[in-house]
Amino acid sequence: GFVAALVASGCGSERSESGTTAPEKGFAADALIGVALPSKTSENWVLAGDLFTNGLKEAGFQSDVQYAGASTTVADQQAQITAMITKGAKVIVIGATDAAQLSTQVGQAKQSGAVVVAYDRLITNTPDVDYYIAFDNFKVGQLQGQALLDGMKSRKATGPWTIELFSGSPDDNNSGVFFNGAMDVLKPLIDRGEVVVGSGQTDVKQTATQGWKAENAQSRMDSLLNSTYAGDKTLDGVLSPNDTLARAIITSIKGAGKPIPIVTGQDSEVESVKSIMAGEQYSTINKDTRKLVTETVNMVKTLQAGNQPTVNDTKSYDNGVKVVPAYLLPPIIVTKANATEAYADDPKLSPLTK
Ligand code: BGC
Repeated sequence: GFVAALVASGCGSERSESGTTAPEKGFAADALIGVALPSKTSENWVLAGDLFTNGLKEAGFQSDVQYAGASTTVADQQAQITAMITKGAKVIVIGATDAAQLSTQVGQAKQSGAVVVAYDRLITNTPDVDYYIAFDNFKVGQLQGQALLDGMKSRKATGPWTIELFSGSPDDNNSGVFFNGAMDVLKPLIDRGEVVVGSGQTDVKQTATQGWKAENAQSRMDSLLNSTYAGDKTLDGVLSPNDTLARAIITSIKGAGKPIPIVTGQDSEVESVKSIMAGEQYSTINKDTRKLVTETVNMVKTLQAGNQPTVNDTKSYDNGVKVVPAYLLPPIIVTKANATEAYADDPKLSPLTK
């Protein structure tokens, strides 16, 4: 019978009468799709909310788009996902506020028959996440590391160059991936003494920025300046994982009356693109949120039709329990040199580069 076949297949895919495995049945064209986003720690999240609401509506779905609050983020997000399950969401798209704290909720989602898609940030320690969709995070880190070196070389042809390292929030799985990507480029030079981390703080834990909060990066930079860079000791570069933190780091350095070193970033936030054009922040990464949301909505449409979404990476994202099939988009490095070209089709950023 039908139920026995479902149990036997063990993965929720339905078996046809002939006994061959049929594709998933799909779901109603106007089904409810839940989108649980983290708090608005950077502009990309602010943009994603409206893009999801509009994109899902245009595709004919009903949507429930929620953000975790600013302080009780984990509990908020858990409750929001539970509510989406109760309302009968067929796909739940999640930008995790804490990668490791959602296993109960995604387990319940799976049991209810919903498909769970990790958006931008991986969900860890659970078998119940079906797909991951993001920009290639390791590549983001590599591009940041390379930009840091290129920028420093453009000012001083040979090393040693003195740098400091910052990483993102430890509860975000991306933070370690960005950092490892950057260290993939920087570590060989650090080992050879061509790049020197002035403070000696090279561990992802020492460099972490809790909650991706600007004030935490700013105060760590303040104390590094007071301890390691007192007097006229030179700081050539700072690896910053994103734009919000880059600007906080630059604020700290300006406040100390030091020249601005090469500072990396990510997200192409308006204020950082302005800063790059003004010659302050050195680089950012273009991860076009419009594209990522569009691809996610496409994934939902594919699932609705009962088909398997396209993935292009089945090895990189081991969440501790399984390797999550991923669809990764390519990030683009942006400096003042290529900003005009990089943002040519972005009506918000393009005018800033003229
Ligand atoms: C995103 C970054 C963002 C950061 C802080 C990360 O997970 O990938 O684009 O800067 O979160 O919001």
